[in-house]
Amino acid sequence: MINRRHFLRNTSLLAAGSLVAGHADGLQTRRTTARPAAVVKKNFGLQTYSLTNRENVRQGQPDREFSSDVPGGLKRLAQMGYTTLELSGYSSAGKIGALPMAEFKKYADDAGLKIVSTHAGSPVSEYTKGNLEQAKEFWKRACDHHVAIGCKYLVQPGQPSTRSTEEVAFVGEAFNEAGKIAKAAGLKFAYHNHSGEFVRVVPGGREPLPERWPWGRTPEGAKMVYDGLLEATDPSLVEFQLDVYWAVMGRQDPVEYMNKYPDRIRLLHIKDRAILGESGMMNFQKIFEVAYAHKIEDFFVELEGYTGEGGQFGGVKGCAEYLMKAPFVK
Ligand code: MG
Repeated sequence: MINRRHFLRNTSLLAAGSLVAGHADGLQTRRTTARPAAVVKKNFGLQTYSLTNRENVRQGQPDREFSSDVPGGLKRLAQMGYTTLELSGYSSAGKIGALPMAEFKKYADDAGLKIVSTHAGSPVSEYTKGNLEQAKEFWKRACDHHVAIGCKYLVQPGQPSTRSTEEVAFVGEAFNEAGKIAKAAGLKFAYHNHSGEFVRVVPGGREPLPERWPWGRTPEGAKMVYDGLLEATDPSLVEFQLDVYWAVMGRQDPVEYMNKYPDRIRLLHIKDRAILGESGMMNFQKIFEVAYAHKIEDFFVELEGYTGEGGQFGGVKGCAEYLMKAPFVK
């Protein structure tokens, strides 16, 4: 039988116990809630082109959302959870946009963002024996500028002329030259795709074949441009940055390509139609799982075609929120 004294003792013990537990819980809760979200670091970066308001540019308006306050903009990115950057807007005057590269690098350092990569396309859009030297000069200069800011990758962002298997092969040779220049400077050269690389060309062709060849069989010698570039480039000199969205838009499975070329595809553009995850057409879980299995380390969010709330910063914040919440992103 529990007398009053015994009861009180038990309740006070209980109370003391619950107090201790409550205290501990309270501390734990406070610790959890006091921790800013960005302290949970994940490894993903932003392609800074995402901060370009293309609608403004199209209408001839100044694109000032990022460029008017680069230091502040970079700090906002870090707060969202981005940890690395892939630059856009390099000019051979040694600038990113209007800023000298050393100044841009200082702002990135101040924000705690590491510059890993840059999209720097040579001015040559149709490679020939006659203009290869011009492209090589560009690559040399671009490599020197980017080594100075600790960058790791120099990426060719766009597709040069590849209307025939011969043109594809020559672009491969040109990229090997770029790879040699990058390697000598201590950088890696990589190629970034859109959807136009996932069409076939033929020997002596003047344009890519229609997506659906009308007689149900592929003409002799036809080759997918992307596959041709993989074959024509030296694995020790040229890596590939797979834009997973543009691969899907080219009716390809990015995961199949990653599995087929694990040593060639070494960095990714994580992109959707607009904000990541919203279209429902991208299997980002599988993409990240396979990327981690292949020890891919460099992921860059890219946002295009966003016209929603908060402008470009609102869009890249939405992308970061998706990745921060996604349990499959490390
Ligand atoms: Mg891209």
